[in-house]
Amino acid sequence: MDQRLSPGLYIVATPIGNLGDITLRAAETLRAVAAVACEDTRVTGKLMQHLGCKQRLIRYDDHADEAARERLLALMAAEPVALVSDAGTPLISDPGYRLVREARERGIAITSLPGPCAAVMGITLSGLPSDRFLFAGFLPSKEKARGDVLGELAGVPATLVFYETAPRLLDSLGAIAQHLPGREVAVARELTKMFEECRPGTPQDLIAHYTAHPPRGEIVLMIGPPQAQTFTMGDAEAMLREELVHAKASQAAASVAKRTGLDRKELYALAMRLK
Ligand code: SAM
Repeated sequence: MDQRLSPGLYIVATPIGNLGDITLRAAETLRAVAAVACEDTRVTGKLMQHLGCKQRLIRYDDHADEAARERLLALMAAEPVALVSDAGTPLISDPGYRLVREARERGIAITSLPGPCAAVMGITLSGLPSDRFLFAGFLPSKEKARGDVLGELAGVPATLVFYETAPRLLDSLGAIAQHLPGREVAVARELTKMFEECRPGTPQDLIAHYTAHPPRGEIVLMIGPPQAQTFTMGDAEAMLREELVHAKASQAAASVAKRTGLDRKELYALAMRLK
């Protein structure tokens, strides 16, 4: 790669756990820029040390004051400046949005070097539909707000992807069981690290597992899209009661199995108990 980079903003994705995931282009760019804007100079300092880079580090987040952002924008108008976050892709639940927006308004050249992103890695591992997904950041920590967000997203015909923390996982799974019953869920944890896992299941399965094995580390929580319509045995019982008014148990079970996709033998057993 040409080491003389032109002035502008270089958005650089960095590893989410495994340092081997830095791309060749990311490493070359971090060595070639005039300065690196980062969330935490200690975290990025370690990565730079690993890469043998001695570039100047400038602390930046979207809450930085106007004067600090102005200085950074003036620098990138004259020199190449990288933006990194503590881990993964900047701007994805990380700082950078305001900087990119203002750089774009000023006609500063911007490019983005793709690389690790926990949300994308989670969706590829989960076994949930990947043709359409909606990344929704972190769920709120307060119960009412969390329920409101889940209610708002319940009908979206896409896999939902959230970032999550270990201490909050069980509360979030409980809220999913309550607000989006019957949905498939997957928990992807410690991605690219030694104890990486991806565990699919119902919210109830996952609550049982993580109650017995309290989770640690970083987590991506995913919820499969709504089925066309999902029926529980409770729904089926109500339908069977109606059918049994005028049909035999076997006919009622066959009819309800067809309408709901539930198991005919189980429905027949239920119909016999209801008679
Ligand atoms: N920008 C980052 C990215 O591209 O993935 C995400 C930054 S966000 C502040 C941090 C959250 O990302 C964590 O709380 C966790 O939900 C998720 N995350 C980051 N690294 C992860 C990993 N190795 N395994 C699972 N989730 C991770």
